[in-house]
Amino acid sequence: MLPNLVLGLLAFGGLLALGLARGATWLVVLASVGNVVFAFAVLRRPLRQQRALNEPFPPEWRAVLEAHVRFYRRLDAEGRAHFEKNLRLLAATFDFDATAGVEVTDELRVLALAGAAVLLQGWDDVMLPGTRSVVLHPASFDEDYGDGPHADIAGQVVRQGPILFAVTELRRGWAGDRDGYNVSIHEFAHVLDLADGYADGKAGAMGWGELIADELERVRKGRSPLRAYAGTNEAELFAVATEVFFEKPEELRRRAPELYDALREFYAQDPAGERSPARKAAPRRTSRLKPPGEHGTEHG
Ligand SMILES: [Zn+2]
Repeated sequence: MLPNLVLGLLAFGGLLALGLARGATWLVVLASVGNVVFAFAVLRRPLRQQRALNEPFPPEWRAVLEAHVRFYRRLDAEGRAHFEKNLRLLAATFDFDATAGVEVTDELRVLALAGAAVLLQGWDDVMLPGTRSVVLHPASFDEDYGDGPHADIAGQVVRQGPILFAVTELRRGWAGDRDGYNVSIHEFAHVLDLADGYADGKAGAMGWGELIADELERVRKGRSPLRAYAGTNEAELFAVATEVFFEKPEELRRRAPELYDALREFYAQDPAGERSPARKAAPRRTSRLKPPGEHGTEHG
């Protein structure tokens, strides 16, 4: 954020100096307006995040977490504080929208974003890029975002676009917290995957090519603890594996130990090992993920 801000202010500052030197009023006005608009655009989200951190954690959000998010319930005080901080930052980062029939309530905001907070729990000072919004649909939808006979999409990360959730599926995901199905965790795993520009299940970034290829093979032969949908491609394998890592960690560790270890290292959490997910001091990433690049649509 800061390098962008400095570069932008320098660029508009240069124009301003040029305008003043040449006595070109129109250039001075243009550069001044540009400076203000640019600074506002760059600083809007960080300012919103800072404001969110300065306010106490909303008790009604905590009630939603207590009622629906087992991961949160099992955290100790320090873990809860970290989770709540990330959730506030996420809420200040992602704009929400909804299609007809859905009212964006605090409860739905928390249920949509809690999966992202689960993924971020092991890292310090890592926040997702705020380049997408979250759009809530009342129920599963089809490829045209309608509710026709093939409406079986529970969530989706749209190419260069928003993250979509079916509200019914969001609720189902948090209600069954030991079944390896959670659409919030799933879609935000895609967002993490896409942060380096590739929908490859982090195969490139993490050197997991062989690991993922082997597990894809096992899924397709029905020998994996991951559900069949994981066999779609590398990206779905990573998203489904992440759901199972957090919701059925013991089973994943037993039946796919290499995959479990890779995810444990990546997320810096050990859900099968300790009562509270481990928080390691050293994050595996820098504090800013690269913005997503070209990629396809994902669902499931
Ligand atoms: Zn998916």
